[in-house]
Amino acid sequence: MSFNNLGLSAPLLKAIKEQGYDTPTPIQAQAIPVILQRKDILAGAQTGTGKTAGFTLPMLEILERTKHKREGRHIKALILTPTRELAAQVEESVSLYGKHLPYKSTVIFGGVKINPQIVALRKGVDIVVATPGRLLDHISQKTIDLKHVDFLILDEADRMLDMGFVNDIKKVIAVLPKERQTLLFSATYSDDIKKLSNQFLKSPTLIEVARANTSSEIVKQAVYHVDKERKHELLRHLIIEGKWKQILVFTRTKHGANRLSDQLEKDGITSAAIHGNKSQNARTKALADFKAGQVRVLVATDIAARGIDIDQLPHVVNYELPNVSEDYVHRIGRTGRAGNEGEAVSLVCVDEDDFLKSIEKLINKDIPKIWLKGFKPDPSIKAEPINMGGNRGARNKPRGAGAKSANGGGSSSNRSRNSRRA
Ligand code: AMP
Repeated sequence: MSFNNLGLSAPLLKAIKEQGYDTPTPIQAQAIPVILQRKDILAGAQTGTGKTAGFTLPMLEILERTKHKREGRHIKALILTPTRELAAQVEESVSLYGKHLPYKSTVIFGGVKINPQIVALRKGVDIVVATPGRLLDHISQKTIDLKHVDFLILDEADRMLDMGFVNDIKKVIAVLPKERQTLLFSATYSDDIKKLSNQFLKSPTLIEVARANTSSEIVKQAVYHVDKERKHELLRHLIIEGKWKQILVFTRTKHGANRLSDQLEKDGITSAAIHGNKSQNARTKALADFKAGQVRVLVATDIAARGIDIDQLPHVVNYELPNVSEDYVHRIGRTGRAGNEGEAVSLVCVDEDDFLKSIEKLINKDIPKIWLKGFKPDPSIKAEPINMGGNRGARNKPRGAGAKSANGGGSSSNRSRNSRRA
């Protein structure tokens, strides 16, 4: 299979070549021809599968084939994403793949001034990548014209639902034309995703690359059993002994992310934390420093890390297991991207045994366990309830192995809706 057979025109093939891609990934090979037939699709694909190019390339191709010409403030294509980081990255991809084409794109998200966005929209753009909250602000201020959108993409739709965006998505769709093509991408299939699809997609073609709810098979996974108090020491040991260079570490709480980042800095390991309490500029800088290799460890909470796209990220560490099992799949999907080898290790204390069981049930396999010499857990320490760092809401309540999410079905209705401005 080659990109030449997919029906993409020369300016796109040129951009693909410049990116150094030889062959389409499975999601690209399957989705691109279907999208070019102007069909709706429901695609089950995690980050790291090449899904962004999978929808961006045919979207640009359709603009090209329809000889699209910008008219006033009409927007042709709208891409909705759950987080600011993902929105920015998707827009970067649109610009990158479309660099030999005349179409203009812009990105819209909250947490930054609205005026420059208004100016960009006023000048006229063809493609908008947006998070739902700020997009609604523009809709209500009438600073955006979505009446001519004929291409809607919901990227990481499962995460948008988790973050409580369902009503915002519905409000946005309500102002779009009924006649349009809709593409829905989601890493997991829940009942809520099916509902969304039934409501807004027209006889979609189902495309699935990795089986639903399966953690990427190229990612090597391991669990280190260790006492909670010794996790920091073990992490330092693993980083130093393994000579790890670029490590994305997940904590459950913002406070935990800050504390761990400070501890690592004291150890002489350069580190930065990103989470929802940091300004957008601080998050962008931390990510840039991490990508450039100036910061060795990036400590992140789940929502802040969503959409982070780092080529060849070798190590993901779950410093604490997520209480929502699907987040584990999202986390480890940060490594082993586009065929590169990746390793995801989880530091698990006795309090987290139920989370581990839920995760293994969801991914339908046992993760290899390691009891490292010198770090074996003290058997006299008994499990205690997990402190969620003062975050309220159902999403942060620990759930046992028998929790409904373990089978990936119908879980998001259990979650709080209060984390929309991630
Ligand atoms: P995504 O799943 O869209 O986040 O993409 C994951 C990574 O794969 C990105 O860093 C892309 O640059 C890269 N990628 C996308 N398509 C290809 C391809 N056909 N060949 C190699 N790498 C790719």
